[in-house]
Amino acid sequence: MSWIANRTAAFDSSGIRKVFNLASQLEDPINLSIGQPDFDVPEPVQEALIEAVQSGKNGYALTQGMPVLKEPLQRQITAEYGHSDRDVFVSSGTSGGLVLTLFSLVNPGEEVILFDPFFVMYAPLVELVGGQPVLIDTYPDFRIDLNRVAEAITPRTKLILLNSPANPTGVTATAEEIQGLATLAEERDIALVSDEIYRQFCYDEPFVSPARFNERTIVIDGFSKSYAMTGWRVGFVHGPAEIIDTMVKLQQYSFVCAPQPAQWAAAAALEVNIQGSIDDYRRKRDRIYEGLRDDYDLTHPGGAFYAFPKAPWGTGTEFVEAALGQNLLIIPGNIFSRQNTHFRLSYAAPDEVIERGIAVLQTLARNRPARS
Ligand code: PMP
Repeated sequence: MSWIANRTAAFDSSGIRKVFNLASQLEDPINLSIGQPDFDVPEPVQEALIEAVQSGKNGYALTQGMPVLKEPLQRQITAEYGHSDRDVFVSSGTSGGLVLTLFSLVNPGEEVILFDPFFVMYAPLVELVGGQPVLIDTYPDFRIDLNRVAEAITPRTKLILLNSPANPTGVTATAEEIQGLATLAEERDIALVSDEIYRQFCYDEPFVSPARFNERTIVIDGFSKSYAMTGWRVGFVHGPAEIIDTMVKLQQYSFVCAPQPAQWAAAAALEVNIQGSIDDYRRKRDRIYEGLRDDYDLTHPGGAFYAFPKAPWGTGTEFVEAALGQNLLIIPGNIFSRQNTHFRLSYAAPDEVIERGIAVLQTLARNRPARS
């Protein structure tokens, strides 16, 4: 169709669509494919949304975010980092924050360093704004090798996009890796963007943000995963005031605002303790790791709610198709990577589903099909 703009060619969602098309034919699948919490929105957060709707808080929100949410966020951020030039604004989900970050910072032709595997949205978004994704391969252990980052930097490098704990691997960068990356970005005058949407889901070590070591780090965060509010679209971005002002200006001409009732609910969420859910996920993580470690090449996931094992035979896609044949829904690694060797599973699922999934995965690993 000749009307469609060239820039959309960067988006190829055929792989994931194929999985979901196959999945829609399954009855009661063992679903370990979904990237959202299996607990419900905490009760006080639900009540705050209803109260906001019923008391008429349904109009446009302020572009930068409602004071009820923006002010406590700003207080938290100032208390955590103590940076004099760190402002925050409320975005339409973490995704909205990512879009505005890339539109605000990347000129056409500039390079953006991503760690492969990466969250699905990163490479297409970089291309959408005319940038060039530069992928750093982190297989097989998904660690950040600072030498490789330094080698990838060119005069065109504009930003480095970091995600820890990571989707799809669940791997959490060490404090040394984070500090090294933060220092390298600062020394080379490159913007460091840190997607911290899984920061509360750290099971072994406390979360470390590069903003602790690099005052100009741009941090993207949100409420989707921590409070199971994926459909409510509330995120936030904090960083140097001039950059935040630029994003707010662009938000005015794009998303307009994050939904107002959901901002009141997010403000209530700040008062909710989700430690119980985190402990639950740590237990699920342990169960998945124990259940798969003997049969799979699997890097121990320290956070988020994903594991990223290597397919024991075939490509990632072939293995996922075989799993679908056993009613198990997982995602092939090539959705997140240049490589097609692994698969992602999400353990944000009921224990009984996790047990059924482990049983199928053990059987599949031990029974490689005869070559046709
Ligand atoms: N970043 C990462 C790493 C994610 O996994 C996701 C959601 N899957 C997002 C951003 C987007 O989250 P939101 O719902 O807040 O847009």
